[in-house]
Amino acid sequence: MGQAAIYPGSFDPVTNGHIDLIQRATQIFDTVIVAVARNVHKTPLFNTDERLEMLREATKGMKGIEVEIFDGLIIDYAHKKNLNVLIRGLRMISDFEYEFQMALTNRRLAPDIETVFLMPSENYSFLSSTLLKEAASLGADVSTFVPEFIATRLKKRLMKA
Ligand code: ADP
Repeated sequence: MGQAAIYPGSFDPVTNGHIDLIQRATQIFDTVIVAVARNVHKTPLFNTDERLEMLREATKGMKGIEVEIFDGLIIDYAHKKNLNVLIRGLRMISDFEYEFQMALTNRRLAPDIETVFLMPSENYSFLSSTLLKEAASLGADVSTFVPEFIATRLKKRLMKA
């Protein structure tokens, strides 16, 4: 395997912004491991297996992508896999503070691991899973923000909620 990187997140659910970032990452790295966090703070709308399965479906046909689940600290997971690059996305200035803190905390805990930041297309630079769920729960058509099958699943899930 050539150079590989891990892209961690909750992906609840995966959006076109995440997919845009994954695509950009594959142009830099031979393998991109998209790592779905099992332990997310907020109660997720989709469970871990669903989030994994949706990511697999959304990245089907893209080369060099692996989708996995991880527990605990991402730096421990990276060490376990012998990888030293984490990918994170920067949408707005508002992401910067949190991402900066997290990257520097991770660096203190694991100096051998680097965080690489990528910027999405400006079409997606405002898009977050949280806002998307909120809009969808209020009846918005979110099909321009997520793959079609996810828009359908979101609608179904929110109808049950
Ligand atoms: P969390 O940080 O809560 O796990 P996500 O799983 O949604 O949030 O995001 C994982 C990573 O993807 C984060 O670095 C986040 O900034 C990035 N990201 C999320 N949405 C987008 C987007 N629309 N464009 C670019 N990056 C994004």
